[in-house]
Amino acid sequence: MRRAIFPGSFDPLTLGHSDIIRRGVTLFDELIIAIGSNAEKKYMFSIEQRMQFITAAFQSEPKIKVFTYKGLTVDFCKKMDAEFILRGLRNPADFEFEKAIAHTNRKLSEIETVFLLTSSGKSYISSSIVRDVIRNGGDYTVLVPDTVRTS
Ligand code: ADP
Repeated sequence: MRRAIFPGSFDPLTLGHSDIIRRGVTLFDELIIAIGSNAEKKYMFSIEQRMQFITAAFQSEPKIKVFTYKGLTVDFCKKMDAEFILRGLRNPADFEFEKAIAHTNRKLSEIETVFLLTSSGKSYISSSIVRDVIRNGGDYTVLVPDTVRTS
């Protein structure tokens, strides 16, 4: 069983995330979307809301599971018996950041990180931009799946 974890904050899920999820799931037998919960981080959406957006978006896909986790991603991988971490790359800044994390995770464990390049047309989408659009009353619905709504 080739099982991968797609970890992230998903605050909220965006069309960029869902693109990586839809393409990534074809590479594995099971893809676990792992929503990070960090007590020190301030989120716009609660863990329940973030979970609900993702669960509803992928309810018809049996290979996709959704979990929340605390602590190190490699520890969560071991707990779930996953050998792979899936991450998306948008730009050189993502690459530099992800490279350091992937090397660290490799030092801590045997887990391989698999990267997918963002689809053209989605590279500008990030949760932080979506949150900014929401805060300022803009039309965020063009940046997120239909299941993500603020009311
Ligand atoms: P984190 O706080 O761990 O970066 P995010 O929810 O921001 O969590 O992102 C989770 C993953 O999704 C990361 O690998 C990120 O690079 C990827 N990602 C986010 N937006 C996009 C996008 N537009 N295209 C491709 N990958 C993306």
